[in-house]
Amino acid sequence: MQGLMQDYPLTVPHIFSRAEKLFPEKTVVTALPSGRERLTYGEWADRTRRLGGVLDTLGITETGRAATFMWNSARHLECYFAIPCTGRVLHTLNLRLFPEQLVYIVNHAEDEVVFLDRSLGALIGPLLPQFETVKHIVVVDDGKGDVPDDPRVLDYEEVLAEAKPVEFRVDDENRAAAMAYTSGTTGNPKGVVYSHRSTVLHTIGTLTADVLGVSEADTILPVVPMFHANAWGLAHAGVMAGSTLVFPGADLTPKHIATLIEEEHVTLAAGVPTIWMGVLPELEGRDLSSLRAIPCGGSAVPKALSEAYRAKIGLPILQAWGMTETSPIASTGHIKTSLRAGRSEDDLADIRAMQGLIAPLVDCRIVESGTVDELPWDGEAQGELQVRGPWIAKAYYNDERSPESFTDDGWLKTGDVAVISPEGYIRLVDRTKDVIKSGGEWISSVDLENEIMGHPAVAEAAVIGIRHEKWQERPLACVVVKPGESLTKEELLSYLDGRVAKWWLPDDVQFIDEVPKTSVGKFSKKDLRDRFADYVLPT
Ligand code: ADP
Repeated sequence: MQGLMQDYPLTVPHIFSRAEKLFPEKTVVTALPSGRERLTYGEWADRTRRLGGVLDTLGITETGRAATFMWNSARHLECYFAIPCTGRVLHTLNLRLFPEQLVYIVNHAEDEVVFLDRSLGALIGPLLPQFETVKHIVVVDDGKGDVPDDPRVLDYEEVLAEAKPVEFRVDDENRAAAMAYTSGTTGNPKGVVYSHRSTVLHTIGTLTADVLGVSEADTILPVVPMFHANAWGLAHAGVMAGSTLVFPGADLTPKHIATLIEEEHVTLAAGVPTIWMGVLPELEGRDLSSLRAIPCGGSAVPKALSEAYRAKIGLPILQAWGMTETSPIASTGHIKTSLRAGRSEDDLADIRAMQGLIAPLVDCRIVESGTVDELPWDGEAQGELQVRGPWIAKAYYNDERSPESFTDDGWLKTGDVAVISPEGYIRLVDRTKDVIKSGGEWISSVDLENEIMGHPAVAEAAVIGIRHEKWQERPLACVVVKPGESLTKEELLSYLDGRVAKWWLPDDVQFIDEVPKTSVGKFSKKDLRDRFADYVLPT
């Protein structure tokens, strides 16, 4: 017997028109150098429909790729909807990619137009001559910087003023809606293509209470960029739910973020750990009681950071895990009621330091490296984390490297090493490339870093494996000491003694000025390994 429901396509225009019809009075706030712009959803929707008209006038092909090189703003949100709602494909360019990577991805995606914030003109200007397929560069005036000198340049407001609003309609839910490229540390970035269906389902996922629980009552501050990993779905979720949206624009300084939270009464603010580390000293003397959740991911959330927020504002950080390939939300760290009972705050903080429970509709497994043999969820067995689901990529766009990342039975190989507890909590141990192999056992560089960063004098720490004759590899801790503090190797090792297994204790500690970062601000272990390539551990 078959169900008798309509086969109604899941498409982005539905998200758009829901906001347009139900929440025209709600606001989208954008911080600009001149002050905060406030637009109602009604005004935003009209502008977005006219932007659809602009795409027609500019002759962007029916399934053409339209790129954005923009900060988080209402203008970017206009692009987020006008492009897919007219059947085109939104390609968010990650501002933090290296120049040669940007040129590669624009040409690989065959972008026909680039929407550009004027403040980013200097960053992209020198690359424009190499963008082979780009016919137009539409510049948004976000208050700073120079318009690039290029004959293809148009002004966003001028073309919008001349355009007619268009009807939005997409019938095929499997049509591409957006794409983004990974920022991988080696090789060219790989393209991930999101469909209308995957976008809608991911949006619904973020609305569920135990994922991010986005609701109409929320005021959302996505610090996490719309140009990388889809602002964790918050732009779509906010529009679907009719939440107030607050965009920080180009100013991501801790003071500005804290001020926006306080003055706009933000309830949900999402960003990577480095953002919340920066904001921490800014909490002093402010009223941030409006906050109900601080989703954080992209790299491991140190327990000490989450606990510092709990101590200062009574709200620990909500850890989330995901990747460009997973749309990106794949797990969140809510604590089950059965795990709350009888546990100390410190134990609860340990649970929050994990990457959490897999999202509804997504499956996860851990497997023995290089096989599809599933390992038990016993909190001990470590293996590669693999996921599948309706918003998980199944291949890269036009890329022969796809087979390296997807199994024959349809799972994404995340490149993360994890254990899963009997209760189903994912705990990332390391990247497969970064795990330290000592005497046939694995040492988690991430766990060691977390413990080291728990030391009050430590600002940042990264641990890498150094070749060792007897043990194959041994850990070297690279530590950045906080300004005004001092720390010796002996002090750090005695602090770690008892906190980690004896055989995990780093063989040496190097004090460095800064941990090198990837283009998107994650610890670049590759650069650290290069720096210490000739380093010999003390015997
Ligand atoms: P890239 O574009 O560099 O691939 P992604 O945002 O897709 O950037 O990176 C995804 C990776 O980031 C994950 O595979 C994982 O290693 C890391 N990551 C994301 N969230 C977390 C988290 N909460 N804890 C630890 N690592 C995380």
